[in-house]
Amino acid sequence: MQRDDDVRSSCFASLDVLQARCGSDIPWSALAEGFNFRGRRVPFLNRAYGIYRAADAQRGPAALSINSSFSQKRYQDEDTLEGVRYHYQDGPIDNHFNSWLRAAHVLRVPLVYFIGTRPGHYRPEYPAFIDEDDPIDRRVLITFGKMRGPYDEREPMHIDDFDERRYTVRQVKQRVHQAQFRGLVLPAYTDRCAICRLKETRLLDAAHIIGDTEERGEPVIRNGVSLCTIHHRAYDQDLVAISPDYEVHVSRRLLDEEDGPMLDLLKGFHRSGIVLPDRPGQRPDRERLAVRFERFAEASA
Ligand SMILES: [Zn+2]
Repeated sequence: MQRDDDVRSSCFASLDVLQARCGSDIPWSALAEGFNFRGRRVPFLNRAYGIYRAADAQRGPAALSINSSFSQKRYQDEDTLEGVRYHYQDGPIDNHFNSWLRAAHVLRVPLVYFIGTRPGHYRPEYPAFIDEDDPIDRRVLITFGKMRGPYDEREPMHIDDFDERRYTVRQVKQRVHQAQFRGLVLPAYTDRCAICRLKETRLLDAAHIIGDTEERGEPVIRNGVSLCTIHHRAYDQDLVAISPDYEVHVSRRLLDEEDGPMLDLLKGFHRSGIVLPDRPGQRPDRERLAVRFERFAEASA
């Protein structure tokens, strides 16, 4: 059975380029162009079915990518310490889709796991591997490997060490959860910074009002605000705050400093109102803002 390593390498290299251009969460419009393999355009994934093999480019039988869209309820992927459990497609166990998935396990080939982070956006995690196949429960275990080597000759590697693999899985999950939180919050602010209104998604984050390690720090929309990187950093450092009545406050320390245009970017919004989501149910929770604002007031006193 063929492994199609050449097709996989082209696919990964193209995704490196797309992520550099569009950010980590790639819009479908960019993915839809596919990647170039020996002069031919090859699709990255099949959105209608979770499991995809590039029939025009591959000779081997194993899947090239799998995906879970943002809204997909049917195939709820399940996190474990070792990786993510991914369910077979409905239908016979040996239909096209399921046989591609199972061949990826037999051949131990690297593939791409596209994870929906907001409607129409996917975060590609690669190289991913199918480490276990459970035909009785009709599911596989996806684990994550590493790209190793010099930049233009990076090779996908499976991670054999148990602890290192768990560590990698944890990192991937953190990235994905953060991305999904971002995918929830940013659209509510029509992809703008709530403080300065910057509209450039590559420079926008979803900031937690209450930190995610604290009580009530859940990744829910009402615990989030869309902020550009500089305002996010300033917010996290309590140099800038948002009051429970949605007003920007700048710390006295910054207000008293005098120099430079970047400082004006921070100071200029003192006492201005933030951009709010149209829907009241998506606006920042005033109680959480109050808790956070108290901390700022103490820090800045
Ligand atoms: Zn900003």
